[in-house]
Amino acid sequence: MTVTQSRPVLSVIGGGVIGSMCALAAADAGWHVDIYDAGEATRASEVAGGMLGTLGEGHPGEEGLFALSAESTAWWPGWIERLGDPAIVTAADTLFVATTAADGEYLRQLAQFVWAQQVPDGRLTGLRGRQVRAHEPSLSTRVHSGYRALGEGALDNRRLLAGVRSRLAERGGHVHRMWVDSFADVPGDQVLIAAGMGTSALLPDVKLVPAKGEILRLRRNRQSVPVPRNVIRARVEGRHVYLVPRADGLVVGATQYEPVSPDDRAAHAGGVADLLADAIAIMPGLRTYELIEASAGIRPGSADGLPVVERIDDRTLVATGHGRNGIVLAPATAARIVELLAG
Ligand SMILES: Cc1cc2nc3c(=O)[nH]c(=O)nc-3n(C[C@H](O)[C@H](O)[C@H](O)COP(=O)(O)OP(=O)(O)OC[C@H]3O[C@@H](n4cnc5c(N)ncnc54)[C@H](O)[C@@H]3O)c2cc1C
Repeated sequence: MTVTQSRPVLSVIGGGVIGSMCALAAADAGWHVDIYDAGEATRASEVAGGMLGTLGEGHPGEEGLFALSAESTAWWPGWIERLGDPAIVTAADTLFVATTAADGEYLRQLAQFVWAQQVPDGRLTGLRGRQVRAHEPSLSTRVHSGYRALGEGALDNRRLLAGVRSRLAERGGHVHRMWVDSFADVPGDQVLIAAGMGTSALLPDVKLVPAKGEILRLRRNRQSVPVPRNVIRARVEGRHVYLVPRADGLVVGATQYEPVSPDDRAAHAGGVADLLADAIAIMPGLRTYELIEASAGIRPGSADGLPVVERIDDRTLVATGHGRNGIVLAPATAARIVELLAG
């Protein structure tokens, strides 16, 4: 497609999932878009697990976030079609798994919250331990009970980012690898600041709450048990661990530490050891998988738990504060930014 200079120009600061998907949605809506991005070293979207968690992220007191996540998740199939790469989707459903009666009771309370949010019948079903294992035979015989959430899948976030950038390039968009000190220096008719944790340095009035998370990537080899088909979200004696399928293995996550220095992106031995111990407790065959990456990122949380997506002034917009749900919330955020750009 030919890009003409008569298009209005949108500059996006930040090339994570939020900046990139807002950029592509704006390009589809007729804007010429340039992304200014400092690179992947500080990018939460690079390390994320890629779960599209709505039911699994439903907690009492977070009804607004639950509704927004449900709305955003409904946009995902259209985005996958737009990107033209079905392999971005790595799982369609989730199994919630408890290892003890107390873990089972914890899951039961979350299920009560979810059912009270009027989710359609059959989306979340309770299972006995053997029924959980009938869905995923590689899970441990220690599994006590669980729930099956239909339509609660996962994406390969790195493949997603690559796909979004390639579609943006087809629309004439560019990614400029650079650090931006002041958004006043960035050209463009409109500027969107979507710099994750970096947003506060550009807009000091936007206060973010950093939450560090360590996460692992494991690769299957020929001796290993197959990769589960479902996302597995387990409660193991009071701790959380999740296993997210990839084409060649699994992502195992994630720890959560608050408060934390916004620059602490080191994966520590203790976090890695806990994640591996809990993941192997739930899926013993994981022992033969190869550990190929241990990393950590900072979730850019907001004070009230909801993303900050708004116009700042005539030329400037912001989209940040997506906390632990940035992948889930990216489509709704992009739709809102396009609305704001349209005035
Ligand atoms: C361990 C972990 C697991 C997670 N798992 C999930 C999950 O399963 N599902 C889910 O929905 N969410 C998950 N999240 C949350 C999700 O990753 C974030 O909410 C989301 O990535 C935030 O995206 P973003 O684009 O706002 O920020 P980022 O991805 O951090 O991107 C910000 C970009 O801005 C750039 N930047 C910053 N400052 C500047 C500047 N001054 N100039 C130029 N560029 C700048 C950075 O280089 C970076 O590329 C997880 C997060 C972590 C840490």
